[in-house]
Amino acid sequence: MKQDSRVLTSTSSGVTINDLIPSSTYCCLSNLPTGLLDYLNDLPDSIRKSLVFRQIFESVIAESTAQDEPGAPPIIVINEIDDEPTPPWEFFYSNKLWYHKDVPPPDYNKLVGCDCIGECNPTSTTCVCLRRQKNLWPDGMQSGFGFSYDENGILKNWDETIVECNDLCQCMGKCRNRVVQQGRKVQVNIVKTEEKGWGIFAGERMEAGTFLGIYSGELITEAIGESRRYMLYNEYGRTYLFDLQGNNYVVDAFHVGNFTRFLNHSCAPNCWMKNVVINEHTKRKCVLALFTLEPVEENQELHFSYFGSLDDVRVCTSIIPRGRIEVREDIVNGKCYCGAPNCIGTLFPHIIRDNQDSGDEGGDEAEVLDGERHNEGGEEMGGEGDRMADEGRETGAGNDMQMDT
Ligand SMILES: [Zn+2]
Ligand SMILES: [Zn+2]
Ligand SMILES: [Zn+2]
Repeated sequence: MKQDSRVLTSTSSGVTINDLIPSSTYCCLSNLPTGLLDYLNDLPDSIRKSLVFRQIFESVIAESTAQDEPGAPPIIVINEIDDEPTPPWEFFYSNKLWYHKDVPPPDYNKLVGCDCIGECNPTSTTCVCLRRQKNLWPDGMQSGFGFSYDENGILKNWDETIVECNDLCQCMGKCRNRVVQQGRKVQVNIVKTEEKGWGIFAGERMEAGTFLGIYSGELITEAIGESRRYMLYNEYGRTYLFDLQGNNYVVDAFHVGNFTRFLNHSCAPNCWMKNVVINEHTKRKCVLALFTLEPVEENQELHFSYFGSLDDVRVCTSIIPRGRIEVREDIVNGKCYCGAPNCIGTLFPHIIRDNQDSGDEGGDEAEVLDGERHNEGGEEMGGEGDRMADEGRETGAGNDMQMDT
């Protein structure tokens, strides 16, 4: 099978391919460095409350940026509201996903890369990455894009999971199918707001479909996410948990994260999170990537919706009158200050759908990105996908996010 695709299984020295997964691809949570954070927390208040502390914070972000997204403009912290030098610095700044020990690492034995020389071509008949994307997003071929991005790296695929080229592909780093993995290219700033605590603002003009950054943090199982949600974060009155939509995994940005953990909610969001698969053979373990949903001007606040799927946003904002909203009783339930004309007044509504659509969730089999199993679509996605979609809707839970002020 798959004669035309590149599958590595073992090396002559007996080392398995999985032993060769680069540390830039796989970060194990148990290796998370905590020394710096401990040191900073032990500093006297006179430093922690001074502008020097802001400079240290910006330097730590710059260090992370230099490693993961060289060339990205530095992130600046701006507070013209009060004396707080930085947002609460209780987390390790990182642009990576840190895998909990209960989450299996990427499996390079099952990962398939393409054989393309140079840059992958959106009209190629042999590129296995294009084939995987096409299986998930057939409209992309019809609209002439093929890959999820145009030649300038602007997102065109708003509907389906993105499949980028991976570590095993032969194509060059500047292949158009490598956008999220190259990191941020545009300027964003962390800015204190009047009513919503800290937020993220555009440092430059951006067109719709511009990649901003991934929602980094701990990658944990749904079960661990649930226990943290109810035992810890509801007590604190805030949460940084983000569900990977029906995929059994959750990203928690409380202890580890980047600037995206400060994004505020809006009922009329100008950004959106997309699922992106890079060095995983299954779309269950994807990366959540933030893109602008519409053109954004310099100094405009960037925000997205905590409500769940784009479809849920449409229900909440009555773009599609297909459901109704109830306000949940949890402690982690906040008033919305987004100021949008269609604001529904709460950050975490309980959304009750009039009808259940199957979405693109599926069982384990249907999730495997082998470029062939999905080919004719439909059947294998059947019952399991519907069941999962039902479960997802019953909980009504959107993506829980930060609630601090
Ligand atoms: Zn490529
Ligand atoms: Zn290719
Ligand atoms: Zn590829």
